[in-house]
Amino acid sequence: METVEIRIGVYICHCGINIASTVDVDRVRDSISQLHNVIVSRDFKYMCSDPGQELVIRDIKEKGLNRVVVASCSPRMHEPTFRMTIQQAGLNPYCLEMANIREQCSWVHEDREYATEKAVKLVSAAVARVSLLEPLEEKEVEVRPQALVMGGGIAGIQASLDIADAGFKVYLVEREPSIGGHMAQLDKTFPTLDCSACILTPKMVEVERHPNIELLSYSEVIEVSGYIGNFHVKVRRKPRYIAMDKCTGCGMCAEACRMKGRIISEFDVGMGKRSVPYIPFPYAVPSKYTIDPENCLFITKGKCGKSPACKDACSSDAIDFEQKEEIVELNVGTIVVATGFDLFDAREKPEYGYGLYDNVLSGLEFERLVSSSGPTQGKIVIGGKEPKNVVFVQCVGSRDKSVGNEYCSRVCCMYTAKQAHLIHEKLPDAKLTVFYMDIRAFGKGYEEFYDRVREEGVRYIRGNVSEIIKKGDRLLVMAEDTLLGEPVDIEADLVVLATGIVPRRDVKEVGNLLKISQSPDGFFLEGHPKMRPVDTATDGIYLAGCAQGPKDIPDTVAQAKGAASSAMTKMAKGRVKVEVTTASVDEFVCRGCGRCVEVCEYSAPNLEEVEPGILVSRINDSICKGCGACSVACPSGAISMKHFKNEQILSQIAAVI
Ligand SMILES: Cc1cc2nc3c(=O)[nH]c(=O)nc-3n(C[C@H](O)[C@H](O)[C@H](O)COP(=O)(O)OP(=O)(O)OC[C@H]3O[C@@H](n4cnc5c(N)ncnc54)[C@H](O)[C@@H]3O)c2cc1C
Ligand code: SF4
Ligand code: SF4
Repeated sequence: METVEIRIGVYICHCGINIASTVDVDRVRDSISQLHNVIVSRDFKYMCSDPGQELVIRDIKEKGLNRVVVASCSPRMHEPTFRMTIQQAGLNPYCLEMANIREQCSWVHEDREYATEKAVKLVSAAVARVSLLEPLEEKEVEVRPQALVMGGGIAGIQASLDIADAGFKVYLVEREPSIGGHMAQLDKTFPTLDCSACILTPKMVEVERHPNIELLSYSEVIEVSGYIGNFHVKVRRKPRYIAMDKCTGCGMCAEACRMKGRIISEFDVGMGKRSVPYIPFPYAVPSKYTIDPENCLFITKGKCGKSPACKDACSSDAIDFEQKEEIVELNVGTIVVATGFDLFDAREKPEYGYGLYDNVLSGLEFERLVSSSGPTQGKIVIGGKEPKNVVFVQCVGSRDKSVGNEYCSRVCCMYTAKQAHLIHEKLPDAKLTVFYMDIRAFGKGYEEFYDRVREEGVRYIRGNVSEIIKKGDRLLVMAEDTLLGEPVDIEADLVVLATGIVPRRDVKEVGNLLKISQSPDGFFLEGHPKMRPVDTATDGIYLAGCAQGPKDIPDTVAQAKGAASSAMTKMAKGRVKVEVTTASVDEFVCRGCGRCVEVCEYSAPNLEEVEPGILVSRINDSICKGCGACSVACPSGAISMKHFKNEQILSQIAAVI
């Protein structure tokens, strides 16, 4: 503990009128000025502005302040700003305390008297704590110039290319046999109607050929340890049962396979069939075949005729049933998470008849139906006939509390408009009706595209579809026109459900692996919704694309570029500051029971034998995130948290009560 005199400066922000309209700032300033050790107490319109920060710097220099309290908004927003401010004036950045009198006071109270009283208490508590804060030494670690990108959809592809172009090594891990993600399944893309494959394929090929990218397809990350700059990653490479270096992609194995045409194609979302040796789609990267182990007779039953037909057919001798899974270990400095999304399962809305009637399709199934690389080569035929009457239902599984998804999926309004346009293009006489709640055409060129589709004759009805039932070999769509307040029934040959975007099934497991959290909608949580949209709570791990929330392709690409640039900034600097508010063990009090080792989510503590038979816990500062779990769990009270010591917190509490 310092013995020098504590000299505190307190700065109360008006935040325009955000704080000042509810809190009597003058009264707070004056009562705080009476507190012990407070040398100066001021108020200012915007403390975060340049003149606001200058005020603090000048006072530190002129009045010899050695502690600073800023009473303003949440420290999540501006603690780094004010730490930098006091550092510029020569103070240790940890000699700062913030009192949140906006989110925790002016924004949640209406009574000015009560809010002012509360603000005085919050600032007094901050003054009490800041007096006991100790300067902390910031530490730096090296950042390896290598990145891991998880997920090879358009987000992962773009992030990998940007990082690799900047000269850093990238390991791109994709779970499926090919990269491409959902974008590879789309036909044309709104609003420009570019063919999806035409704009995606060149990027996929670039990934494969890029000297700085190592593509680990058909692989999964199974373990991540370490910290920013130095993550240690284990990747499971699943056996393809086909030697990548020998396979020429000729497809003779798939042709010869006894199960040819009997396996449901995942890529065509059940609309087409494939063989056991398969390539997901014609322009897959890598363009190599994979034997699907779950359906292979030789793998599941140990026998396939006299000998496996694929093996006999392969002139390159590439089929290798002896292949085993491999574990690859990587060391990387940063990680980009681009694991994408799943589609809402429309079976959760049984009233729409999805899964019951063959002529009720999801939006993605329709994409495969209309695609020239799809099972019908792009011919829109249902039950052998071209549909004359098509109904689209929007917001299926989005903005719907009954299925737990309150959010808007952001792409369904526009992909419905696109799909209606594609039908109009191929079947100009078909009658097209869209049931919608509101139209959200927020992007560049989107409103214009929506207008164009309506001009083409697509009928938009604002209304809720209550039920879809079978009527002969057609469907009867029963709805209410909510503008006219009338029921409407429409007979249709085909219904397309605009199924929404949901978090991936394994979002929790991936989150646990990386120690990153989910927001209430289930997608990965960003550092700050506005100011840090690609960061996570774990330094060095960034988010791109639909893993963070529903997005169209332009926003996905933009975010991927943002995530890549954040990762690159750290790698280009080569060194990065790490958390200093970590746990520390008093080795004389520690009994070596290991509770801290059990509770730490980050594996920071370790038991070490200091003398024969005497164990003590030692904490790896670079790994510790300062969460405090060990300090709470330690039965001996041996662990304290730097910057959050018991006496610092108790002084705060005492000032409030
Ligand atoms: C029916 C439909 C039509 C659409 N039409 C358009 C359109 O016309 N225009 C437009 O702008 N947008 C459109 N979109 C939106 C577009 O599909 C998305 O913006 C885009 O696909 C998001 O890309 P992504 O890379 O974030 O996710 P994804 O495409 O889902 O890619 C994620 C990738 O990560 C892989 N992965 C997942 N988990 C792991 C893991 N743990 N380890 C390794 N790999 C993993 C997946 O296999 C996949 O390859 C449409 C969406 C739908 C559903
Ligand atoms: S037959 Fe052999 S070379 Fe041809 S795709 Fe199959 S495994 Fe590859
Ligand atoms: S504070 Fe304790 S439990 Fe939390 S990360 Fe550090 S060592 Fe682990």
